[in-house]
Amino acid sequence: MTEQRSGSQGVHLDCLIVGGGPAGLTAALYLARFGRRFMVVDAGDSRASWIPTSHNIPFFADGIAGREILDRQREHLARYGGQVIRGTITVLSKAEGGFAARFKEDAGAGVLRKVQARRVLLATGADDEEPGFPDLPDAIRRGLVRYCPICDGYEARGKRIAVIGHGDRGLGEAAFVARTYSPDVTLLTLGRGVNLNADQRKLVETHGIKVVHEPIHGLDIEDGRITLLRTANGEEHRFQVLYSALGLKIRSELALALNAEHDGTGALIVDEHNRTTVPGLYAAGGVVRGLDQVVVAMGHGAVAATDIHNRCELPTEEEADGAEKVPNGG
Ligand SMILES: Cc1cc2nc3c(=O)[nH]c(=O)nc-3n(C[C@H](O)[C@H](O)[C@H](O)COP(=O)(O)OP(=O)(O)OC[C@H]3O[C@@H](n4cnc5c(N)ncnc54)[C@H](O)[C@@H]3O)c2cc1C
Repeated sequence: MTEQRSGSQGVHLDCLIVGGGPAGLTAALYLARFGRRFMVVDAGDSRASWIPTSHNIPFFADGIAGREILDRQREHLARYGGQVIRGTITVLSKAEGGFAARFKEDAGAGVLRKVQARRVLLATGADDEEPGFPDLPDAIRRGLVRYCPICDGYEARGKRIAVIGHGDRGLGEAAFVARTYSPDVTLLTLGRGVNLNADQRKLVETHGIKVVHEPIHGLDIEDGRITLLRTANGEEHRFQVLYSALGLKIRSELALALNAEHDGTGALIVDEHNRTTVPGLYAAGGVVRGLDQVVVAMGHGAVAATDIHNRCELPTEEEADGAEKVPNGG
């Protein structure tokens, strides 16, 4: 892909893709094959890169590591000349004919660049809330605590499992694990959510979930996993697998600054073409409300890219005779 096609200062792109995880890279592949002018800017912190081995990605029955998914996607894109620029979009604003963005490119000592695009796809994903264990930062990133039972609960079936969380989210995940994978589930609230209401107590009883409210004061790590947790009152708890259900920080600030609708947690609301409520701004993957999974992110990317392509020759949504009347084919 030429510099002109992949975009540079002064060139009006068909689309700026913010984020080069599974969602953004899928959209880029589609746009490349549609012959569109686009640019992918990626800060290089995909959640997919933390996946040790995934067994729920179709075609990879023996499992695939997250980094390999990303490498393969970038390599596939490169066959069409598409490249990913390492950098961070810091400002996104509405401008004549679409959007203007500023980004800090990692190469060249963080040079600030500007780019204009008729449409923008936000594929910025989310960050995990890490459990605040004593002397253990980044427990999820280090693979000591798992994040997603939908992803790898199957591999933990029948094991002694702890779910770290509170409120409906924590309890909901503990119930999901108990009814799907294991009868031996403990909910660790880490000192929060001590008072369960009647509905929550019923859920606990129905699924035989044990609840530990005491904060964790110490832990042991053996062979790359947490084997023992000590609570403030001196009790010791042993588990084979720990999941965190503390939630996600959605990376949607650029869209929220443009007043895009979200669900209250920052997860963006989109229509069936992955358009946000800001005309011309699309969103795909973990930044969108719903199931945060690789295949879903890829599906979002494909849907958004196809709609963007179908609207490219048309006026942008804010120009006269903007594109609302156009049919969207698949
Ligand atoms: C430990 C772990 C295990 C998992 N296991 C599985 C699994 O087995 N199966 C499965 O389906 N899913 C799994 N997931 C979830 C999966 O990783 C996500 O669903 C997926 O990565 C979402 O893709 P995405 O493209 O939306 O976001 P991401 O992969 O997070 O990519 C977003 C990209 O956007 C970049 N970005 C953010 N803001 C900016 C900005 N302002 N400018 C430029 N770039 C920016 C980020 O740096 C990042 O590179 C797992 C997640 C974790 C943490």
